[in-house]
Amino acid sequence: MASKIEEVFGKNLFHDEVLRERLPAQTYEALQQTIQNGAELELQTADVIADAMMKWAVERGATHYTHWFQPLTGITAEKHESFIEPDEKGGVTLRLSGKRLIKGESDASSFPSGGLRATFEARGYTAWDCTSPAFLKEDAGGITLCIPTAFCSYNGEALDQKTPLLRSMEALNKHALRILRLFGDNETKRVVSNVGAEQEYFLIDKEFLNRRWDIKLTGKTLMGAAPLKGQAASRHYYGAITDRVSRFMNELDEELWKLGITAKTKHNEAAPCQHEMAPVYATANIACDQNQLVMEMMKKVADRQGLACLLTEKPFPYINGSGKHNNWSIGTDTGHNLLEPGKTPYDNAQFLIFLSAVIRAVDKHAALLRLSCASSSNDRRLGGDEAPPAIISMFLGDDLMDVIEKVKSNVEQPERAQALRFGVPTLPEVYRDATDRNRTSPFAFTGNKFEFRMPGASQSLSECNTVLNTIVAESLDHIATRLEMADDFAAEVREIFRDILFGHERILFNGDGYSKEWHEEAARRGLPIITDTVNAIGALKNASTRLLYERYGVFTASELDARYEVLLEQYTEQIVLEGRVVADMVRRQVAPACLEYLSRMAGNIVAARASGLDCKGMDEDMVDIDDAGALLRRRLFELEKALETPLPADKAKAAAIARDDILVKTQKLGKACDKLERLLPRSVWPMPTFDDMLYEDIQV
Ligand code: ADP
Ligand code: MG
Repeated sequence: MASKIEEVFGKNLFHDEVLRERLPAQTYEALQQTIQNGAELELQTADVIADAMMKWAVERGATHYTHWFQPLTGITAEKHESFIEPDEKGGVTLRLSGKRLIKGESDASSFPSGGLRATFEARGYTAWDCTSPAFLKEDAGGITLCIPTAFCSYNGEALDQKTPLLRSMEALNKHALRILRLFGDNETKRVVSNVGAEQEYFLIDKEFLNRRWDIKLTGKTLMGAAPLKGQAASRHYYGAITDRVSRFMNELDEELWKLGITAKTKHNEAAPCQHEMAPVYATANIACDQNQLVMEMMKKVADRQGLACLLTEKPFPYINGSGKHNNWSIGTDTGHNLLEPGKTPYDNAQFLIFLSAVIRAVDKHAALLRLSCASSSNDRRLGGDEAPPAIISMFLGDDLMDVIEKVKSNVEQPERAQALRFGVPTLPEVYRDATDRNRTSPFAFTGNKFEFRMPGASQSLSECNTVLNTIVAESLDHIATRLEMADDFAAEVREIFRDILFGHERILFNGDGYSKEWHEEAARRGLPIITDTVNAIGALKNASTRLLYERYGVFTASELDARYEVLLEQYTEQIVLEGRVVADMVRRQVAPACLEYLSRMAGNIVAARASGLDCKGMDEDMVDIDDAGALLRRRLFELEKALETPLPADKAKAAAIARDDILVKTQKLGKACDKLERLLPRSVWPMPTFDDMLYEDIQV
């Protein structure tokens, strides 16, 4: 196997080594300047790179290329162009020009834009992101060269997830560097955020998906009686992997390795049919691109193997949902992790400054972090079985809390020799790897990184990382400004640390985030408790949000307005779709099955009576079913009526109606359906049940 990994790893990635090998030294250098320092790429240089890229792809069988981008749909987009160009002799040559590599142009009118395009024109532009390597996508139809790109409108407004992420990384770099310089680091040239995404998912037999319109059209079940077995003490967690799942995982690993994605960890998760995959972390931008590919590849490989991979946040009620743990840290180009407690008090001071920047950021902008994880599907997951609540808090572990207590209570630390130079002997020592685990916290320090557990399994990670980078950049800016003006650096470091702790202590919580008491305590502390997406989206209208994003160049006011509209629209669309699907399943599957059963049984009763049997028991059963059927009809009418009522043009109002009326009626209809399911024989139920779908791979 070892040799197999070496053979396949990065085979389909136009990675640094290939670049170095195929580009003239000068071109390679110029590209590195662009990647590392954002220097502009000359068109001539781009021509050379494009040509090398095309030749590499064609040698591997590619016929087409595409700018691969991430519009606001949550998934990726691609429009394929062949390398063909007519020559003078009536034939064709293959060509990819620098111009086409750098910039693409396409009709953007069908992508969500929140009105950004309307004022200009329908065209959208894609711009090469040379910091994320190009790759080859192989599928049954052929091989395509994919060029990761940003996507914007005619006048440069971001219509995608990547652009703001890249901008936020710039902001983080700028202000983190200021801090490093203040601590005497003149070597570091660039600071980036690093991200490792643990991806949870469900695997079920494809046949089940084919037989359930809710799963097929919305990725989740919208009705279904509680399974008999439930989560069974999470016996699935880390359980032995069945052959069928193992085949899937192995093919997935191989496909990801080909793309240069470092798939590393895989295991069964707590819920039946639930699993997890984690690659080794990478620079935020690359990690977010890779996570999109991971999700796509999971679906593809599952499909090839007669399985369906469900990435929605809560595909089955009564058992755990799926999240995507976003492990986040700040690193330098010299390989230093700035969230790693150091060995010396000097390192510690710097570590504590970065740590306090994160504490301040998360407390100040908890609502934005919450928003970055908001979707109608994640609303169902958060606060549910083993998912973090809809309240942002931070877990630091006992040792760091101890340090914090010491600083707050002003306990003087014994002086240490190394500390003298930087004059920070008063900060207590922090040990590496001193953290314990708290699975219930949405934002936990895990030794040298933060694990943000709130994002949903299907969401683009660009959103939460854009928020994290920006809000931490703001705190670093605040801290750097104070330090730059300070006469006594060491005293100021300590003061800043104390100020932040006193000002933002409420965000720190080491207890059980799943408990009811925490909700009450959080409310007392004044932490925002934002239980649904519509409320979460409101944060985009706050003056503080606008100030923040404009100041750090991450979103303009009109980009924020656009996102506000798009998010509301998507929420409403999803809720309306789910309502329609449930109503349709009830009207055309459940109700007919119920009626058919009732009339068959009525005939049986008549026949039984004719032969002199007392049919009292049967009568009673029929009455129960008939009652449940009547309730179902009432609920169905209510929902159908709500769905027929036109929604107001105001997007916020429409979304509120979707949440308060359509969603509620959808859920009520689902419940009525579940009641009937429990009464009817399994043989007449017109779709697979939770018992059918979920227990295939549990070792009983
Ligand atoms: P666990 O389940 O114990 O939390 P996993 O091994 O499943 O851990 O996943 C941890 C993830 O965190 C991996 O993707 C790993 O590469 C990533 N990670 C490790 N160190 C860092 C770091 N410094 N910055 C960002 N991510 C990191
Ligand atoms: Mg984990």
